[in-house]
Amino acid sequence: MKVLKFGGTSVGKPERMHAVAKLITADPDAKIVVLSALSGTTNALVEISQSLSEGKKVQAKQQIDKLESHYRAFSEQLVSGAAGREKATAIIDEHFEFLNIILKISFNEALNKDILAQGELLSTKLFCAYLEEAGINAVLLSALDFMSIDEFEEPEIPRMKVRLTALIEQQKGQTLFITQGYICRNAKGEIDNLKRGGSDYSASLIGAAIQASEVQIWTDIDGMHNNDPRVVKKTFPIDQLSFDEAAELAYFGAKILHPASIWPAQHFNIPVKLLNTMQPDAKGTIITELPNGDGAKAIAAKDGIIAIKIKSSRMLLAYGFLRKIFEIFEKYRTPIDMITTSEVAVSITIDDQKNLEQILKELQPFGTVELDHHQAIVSIVGNEVAATPSIIKKLFDSLNEIPLRMISYGGSRHNISILVNGQYKERTLQLLNKGLFNLD
Ligand code: ADP
Ligand code: ASP
Ligand code: MG
Repeated sequence: MKVLKFGGTSVGKPERMHAVAKLITADPDAKIVVLSALSGTTNALVEISQSLSEGKKVQAKQQIDKLESHYRAFSEQLVSGAAGREKATAIIDEHFEFLNIILKISFNEALNKDILAQGELLSTKLFCAYLEEAGINAVLLSALDFMSIDEFEEPEIPRMKVRLTALIEQQKGQTLFITQGYICRNAKGEIDNLKRGGSDYSASLIGAAIQASEVQIWTDIDGMHNNDPRVVKKTFPIDQLSFDEAAELAYFGAKILHPASIWPAQHFNIPVKLLNTMQPDAKGTIITELPNGDGAKAIAAKDGIIAIKIKSSRMLLAYGFLRKIFEIFEKYRTPIDMITTSEVAVSITIDDQKNLEQILKELQPFGTVELDHHQAIVSIVGNEVAATPSIIKKLFDSLNEIPLRMISYGGSRHNISILVNGQYKERTLQLLNKGLFNLD
């Protein structure tokens, strides 16, 4: 069985949904199709939630009405027959009735998650209404019946496997399943989600749960490019990446993949393909365990990083110092991305600020603590990139004008990372495109 995930732009217009229906029926292979919300919907839902959390009910009502008109117009063009129209209208009625009811309820975090889930629920139901009208036999599986995270927000693959396998087995002879990306249930059984961009993660987790033969991520670009196409003019798609390379790129900011979306597929050695819905014949990128090529393959950047420097003369010739520091981050479940040390100081970067205040309080006794906000990690990723002759020279030469705050080299064979002030992120990506790929 294959898992095919279609992102927001791939389902964002009625004609795009029609094209997705064609794509998924082009071969007879059994598949689970994972859909995101229509593009713009989750952002709109975030805004509705924000208005409600601030008690701005009139504003929230206007935002809900605007979204509703968008869906009414969308469904007019999605389905054309009387039965299809009736179905689509009923779906939209149901979900917008819910959004209108929440206007009257007092806002809380669980309600926020309920609101955010409406996008994927709407897109999958409307898509199924279209499939039915088009005479395509498919079964809608609710992700809320099988996707779950534990109290630490970690996905529960073994449980998903049991529940999903049972749901599939109930549908003997059925080969096409549709489900929602992004949404899941949490340890309390409430509706929750896998964070923004989480549908990629859903696809990889579902792939892992059913031991799929492959996971395909269909989006609006022909695979992983060598640099961020939103920032750099000339970029090119990469044919092949190893899981390690793809995981580093996803984690360090390549938006085409959710940061955690590679590990589930990697763990079960399931190939991941990145494909373009607008150009289905383009080769895209294939991600497997095989390392291939040498040198820099791609550059990605992640902003909103905080650098923390702990300076202490007690660190001099002492052992156990770093352990004590790391334990504080462990206690607050805050991942450290980069680290550099000297004999008297250690610099660490984090991007999760949730527990920053408590972390700083506990670091205080270890020495002077300095913070730099709004930093960006720029990562150069490639098989054996760190061992590539002259790579460091090229890197320094191309970044002559950029002040570097930290450098991480040799931590992994696939990655060299630098930390720059966020204001230099775009310039750094552009200069590296020239310096490492000879492209403007
Ligand atoms: P979807 O809605 O399908 O999940 P996303 O917007 O999340 O799509 O991801 C696709 C976008 O990621 C592309 O349109 C592109 O602008 C952006 N992107 C950022 N870095 C890269 C990269 N290195 N390669 C390809 N796309 C990238
Ligand atoms: N709809 C969600 C978002 O916009 C999940 C996704 O698209 O992957 O973040
Ligand atoms: Mg995405």
